[in-house]
Amino acid sequence: MSLTTKVIKSIEDLKDHILTGSPSFYMSSRTSTVIPYEKIEEFFKEDITLVDLSHMPAHMEINNSGNLIVRGGVSWKDAREYLRDKGHNIMTSPTEELALILAGVATSCTGERCFCFGNLRSQIVSLKYLNHKGEEKTLTQKDLTYDFLEQYQNEFKHYADYKNAPYPRFEKEIDLMIGTEGQLGVITEVELKIVPDYPLKHFFMLVPKWEEDLSAHLEINKKIQKHREDVLLCELVDSNSFTYLPAEDRPNKGLDAIFFEIKESYFETFYEEFLLKLEHISEENIFEISETRFHNLRASIPRAVFEANSRMGVVKVGTDIQVQTTQFEDLMRAYQELTKAGVDYNLFGHFGDQHLHFNFMPTPEKVKECEEHFQKLYKKIAQLKGSPFAEHGIGILKQKYIQNFWSETQPEVFHKLKALHDPKAQFFPGGFMGLGR
Ligand SMILES: Cc1cc2nc3c(=O)[nH]c(=O)nc-3n(C[C@H](O)[C@H](O)[C@H](O)COP(=O)(O)OP(=O)(O)OC[C@H]3O[C@@H](n4cnc5c(N)ncnc54)[C@H](O)[C@@H]3O)c2cc1C
Repeated sequence: MSLTTKVIKSIEDLKDHILTGSPSFYMSSRTSTVIPYEKIEEFFKEDITLVDLSHMPAHMEINNSGNLIVRGGVSWKDAREYLRDKGHNIMTSPTEELALILAGVATSCTGERCFCFGNLRSQIVSLKYLNHKGEEKTLTQKDLTYDFLEQYQNEFKHYADYKNAPYPRFEKEIDLMIGTEGQLGVITEVELKIVPDYPLKHFFMLVPKWEEDLSAHLEINKKIQKHREDVLLCELVDSNSFTYLPAEDRPNKGLDAIFFEIKESYFETFYEEFLLKLEHISEENIFEISETRFHNLRASIPRAVFEANSRMGVVKVGTDIQVQTTQFEDLMRAYQELTKAGVDYNLFGHFGDQHLHFNFMPTPEKVKECEEHFQKLYKKIAQLKGSPFAEHGIGILKQKYIQNFWSETQPEVFHKLKALHDPKAQFFPGGFMGLGR
């Protein structure tokens, strides 16, 4: 097996490469947690070209409909800064802002502000991609008309309220590229809805450690739901996660912290209707924080956890599970069970959406044991009909867990779509759409 890397710097080079038909894996910022970039040669079974798209010329503009057009190597951070200069903001905010937007379409990326604005898919007006003939095609919100999708769409209904299901939506044309992880073509442009840049306020509240007492967590998760229109995000960082930061950067006094970003105009209502009504939190445990400090804290923790794993020589062993509000306690109890494994762990993520990342921090010898714990956990999540991978996708690392969440319908549809859109099997061979063949 041989691995070659190719850096692409123009759309013409990209078209030429696609026309060679050579099996390729297309990469943007390489922040995916489900692609083991550091050990990628162990996972591909055939000769493959790693195609680096991060140097594609970046372009942003606001079109006549007031939407943001993104082409090439534009990150979420670039887009936020570009829009803020013009009094606008993006609606999706992944914690890793250096990831590229076009890759985010491919992974059906979500993030912190999903709490208020919904998933990225709901913000995409149209997109363009290069097909297997190197032609640039446009996809819109029109319905997908394949006659083999009826059962697939029926089965999808159960997951309609999740950020992402265990398989892509395949309802509208744009869905061919959303969450298919580059297995049906290479995305070159996206048109995104945007919002005004509201003045914001940021807070955090200290709550007991979730391992010891869940009362505050459960109360906050339940009561915050009705404030979704004006609270942009509601994130948890547990006491264990803070230990990856230098001691002077930890504002949590050994406790868990729940962070909120709210519209400034909503502050009085938030104070009276939410903060004052909490039974398990007193005012002295609520603190205001600047936006910059909030973003720095929130991004540096998962990065530090990721780096700690790399230093240990292990690939991340973490979850990406989302459940319904009514199942939140079940999820938290399942995570409490995992704390008994005798392996270091931490918990953080999108608390308001019942979507948390539990990470084991194993030594290399303990990795297999942790994966066995996850096998059991995912069986439980399949019974609850929760969503196992609600934002980071399946990639390579989560393939071993996904098939519990599929019937025969999903692989059948994937194989038909692959045959139609990727007849030379050149786009991400070894991706999840080939499973069960
Ligand atoms: C610290 C940290 C925090 C994170 N937080 C979040 C979060 O809050 N929300 C979230 O959703 N994710 C999060 N992620 C995961 C990751 O950032 C996202 O999956 C992101 O969308 C990957 O973007 P990338 O540019 O790094 O893509 P890459 O890792 O380079 O690629 C990811 C996938 O997209 C495909 N791809 C890339 N570019 C294209 C293209 N132009 N056309 C077609 N396919 C393409 C690749 O083949 C691959 O399958 C986080 C990761 C880290 C390390």
